[in-house]
Amino acid sequence: MTAEDPKGPGEESGSISVHTDNLFPIIKKWLYSEHDIFLRELVSNAVDACTKYGRLQGIGEIQGDLPSFAVNITVNKPGKTLTIADNGVGMTRDEVKKYINQIAFSGAEDFLKKFKDVGDGNQIIGHFGMGFFSAFMVADRVEIYTKSWQEGSEGVRWTCDGSTEFKMGPGPRSERGTEVILHLNADSEEFLDEERLRELVVRYSNFLPIEIQVNGKKANDQNAVWNQAPSKLKDEDYTGFFKKLYPMEPEPLFWVHFTVDFPFTLKGVLFFPKIRSDIDLRSKGRIRLFCNNVFVSDNIADLLPPYLNMLQGVLDSPDIPLNVSRSFLQGDPNVKKIGGHIVAKVAERLSLLQKNDRENYVKYWDDIHPFIKFGSISDEKFYDKVQEALLFKTTTGERLTLREYQEKNAKLKDRVLYTSDPESQHVTLERFKPHGVDIVVLDAPIDPHFVQHLEMKRHPLRFARVDSDTPEALLAADKKEADQDKDFGAFIKKLLPKEAIEVQARALEGNAMPSLIIQSEQMRRFTDMTSAYQGKTGDALLDSHTLVVNTAHVLGTRLKLWSTIPEKAEEAKTLVRALYDLALLQQGALKGQDLSNFLLQATQWVESGTK
Ligand code: ADP
Ligand code: MG
Repeated sequence: MTAEDPKGPGEESGSISVHTDNLFPIIKKWLYSEHDIFLRELVSNAVDACTKYGRLQGIGEIQGDLPSFAVNITVNKPGKTLTIADNGVGMTRDEVKKYINQIAFSGAEDFLKKFKDVGDGNQIIGHFGMGFFSAFMVADRVEIYTKSWQEGSEGVRWTCDGSTEFKMGPGPRSERGTEVILHLNADSEEFLDEERLRELVVRYSNFLPIEIQVNGKKANDQNAVWNQAPSKLKDEDYTGFFKKLYPMEPEPLFWVHFTVDFPFTLKGVLFFPKIRSDIDLRSKGRIRLFCNNVFVSDNIADLLPPYLNMLQGVLDSPDIPLNVSRSFLQGDPNVKKIGGHIVAKVAERLSLLQKNDRENYVKYWDDIHPFIKFGSISDEKFYDKVQEALLFKTTTGERLTLREYQEKNAKLKDRVLYTSDPESQHVTLERFKPHGVDIVVLDAPIDPHFVQHLEMKRHPLRFARVDSDTPEALLAADKKEADQDKDFGAFIKKLLPKEAIEVQARALEGNAMPSLIIQSEQMRRFTDMTSAYQGKTGDALLDSHTLVVNTAHVLGTRLKLWSTIPEKAEEAKTLVRALYDLALLQQGALKGQDLSNFLLQATQWVESGTK
């Protein structure tokens, strides 16, 4: 017994019955990086005590008007103490024995038993379960001064110095409620800083229903929008709430409000943020997980499918087990059900928007499409629900569903023509104009994978890039484009710089171009996907490609003529090279020395043509 702690009348001291040896040192080291959760725990207890009082009054156990509840956090810098005080139900001596000495301590013991094998504290979601006991992570000694609401009850003082020995006796408190005084240890003096405490209240306890003050000033928001009835909320309530959660972010596009009571409890609001790049796609997110309004974690990987992690907002569910390790979470049936419900609701929201509010949905599409595509690829159930809500942007700026595209472009049969870059594929796009078909723009890094996925799901649907072999065949089917001049083609091939290049000589209708290059759709797709993985941008010319020489063009006819005149062999060679270079130029694939040579040659031609 120390001198400052004399044993008075009615005092008892005792041993807390824990079965784990050295509980305290372990707890002190535990979750070293997150000592600050002690404040969340003590504030939660204080708020609980207030709400309990309110409830007792509600059922008529306590008479009179509802008092105004508050939790007060105060610091005494010179004394190095931190106090959390409330005017809730308080505790009788018996209750302190039962709730603090037994429940709080055995809770901590259970917690330790469960997690001594986990090793890494960060593997545990939320670190719930330690409750009151977490005070010993930051305090050498903890005192409780409390007085129960029950009539005739006396003030109680309890103190414990971080061993398994406690002391309890009459205390000076005369008002209903509880005061927990922490004598902070040397490593925890940061918690004497008012700003730090405010920050923690905002982080963990911002949305608790009771006012929380730090040194007399209100620190929490209290307004948990997700607990209110959606019918009572306006758009501004949601966007205002979003701003509070993510002050630096642009306004969200739309949101889904969850209010499930059965077979599990789930409240929350998930926002669809503006997603402008694929980098956003990975980094947005930060859904915050709450348990009965108390913040638990913003790292909820494994709780939801990864594609949903790019949504923002709040989920609150007491049915998500918080004091278990991540690997355990994945197998938990409640977590599965909750995850499934969220996926279904989000998908439903999208398809309803598409059906009932197409105008806005179209506006959102540019932001949300990477997310929806990612979801469609990775989750069958999600895909099934959103498939009719997938839109395709055309080169003329329309947004069509697949069904609409196919209806409009019936003559393409099961094909969808696309461009991966309307700028660099401009010449090719021009070529399709007279044919009156829609061409969709698929220029996101996720698109090659997405397209592959759709082809698998929607057989016999096929996507074909405008400069691939397939649309050529389709257009050829239009007319006699397919009629090739085989001998002429062989003649050209011999004059080309590389063996791998195939040649077709045929009349291209409605096209002013003397030549063009086509590439295999499958090979193209493959290279697009690999370069997406490697983070490359733009696309490269495939080693094997086909040069098409337009026999209906004046240059084509001239070359054809020269091919029959042996004296024109040299000129024919130059012309073949020029036709090939022109085709490469259209693809943005004429580079280096070849480009310099071509420009030099072209300058001479321009010069002689302008004499
Ligand atoms: P939990 O809150 O999960 O029950 P804790 O270890 O946090 O576990 O607290 C144990 C018990 O101690 C509480 O259930 C409550 O009965 C009692 N308690 C703790 N703090 C207070 C308080 N400020 N006012 C009244 N009772 C309290
Ligand atoms: Mg608690």
